[in-house]
Amino acid sequence: MELPPVREVAPGIILAMAEDQICGSWMLVNGKSCFVVETPPKADDGDTVPADLVGNYLKDHDLTPVGLTETHHHWDHTQGVDRYWDMLADYPTFPWICHKSFLDAAKNYTLYFDTIFREEIYETSIGGEPLYLIHAPKHCVSDVMIVYRGTMITGDWWLGTGDPNWNHVPPEVSIASVDRILNFLQGKHYDVHRLFSVHANDFRYGVNTTNVLLETRHYHESKLGR
Ligand SMILES: [Zn+2]
Repeated sequence: MELPPVREVAPGIILAMAEDQICGSWMLVNGKSCFVVETPPKADDGDTVPADLVGNYLKDHDLTPVGLTETHHHWDHTQGVDRYWDMLADYPTFPWICHKSFLDAAKNYTLYFDTIFREEIYETSIGGEPLYLIHAPKHCVSDVMIVYRGTMITGDWWLGTGDPNWNHVPPEVSIASVDRILNFLQGKHYDVHRLFSVHANDFRYGVNTTNVLLETRHYHESKLGR
């Protein structure tokens, strides 16, 4: 069965992901406020323009964009940025947010992003409801976890054991990232019970996130010979 290209996958979490898309684009919604995550390009062999899917959804649902961010700097997540920029130009201005490491890794995006955070955890809100961006390198240097309404969008993180670590992030860095998220959850008594990969190929509902993170941590510790 073919899934609709734009669909609500959890309360307030709308995924735009057509069959021919290389990465999901996400809309986090509260009331009429919408926060956009990821600006993927059109696939070479596809017809779907992700920015258009998002743009149409905003119009059809009378939503106002209040922020935009990316889970990391890789091209398959970001290279549609021009099209998003144009599509969103008619709305009142809103922050384009990224971690400093994102621009360090992809300097040409400086044109677009006006709100650059350096802290490990950045808190903002979507129409008054908290949204947390946690810098947590593990897949690559600029990884950011997106935490909203009990859901965490985990970028391109490999959860659990067997991370192929294509970008050669040192195990110590991955462990520190896992600990950062664990400390955040514990410190805020925040229950994340849904984990979604940003490519929309891994949806986990009703998960014990602490256990998943501890298993992930354990794997990276094993790389240190512990
Ligand atoms: Zn990717």
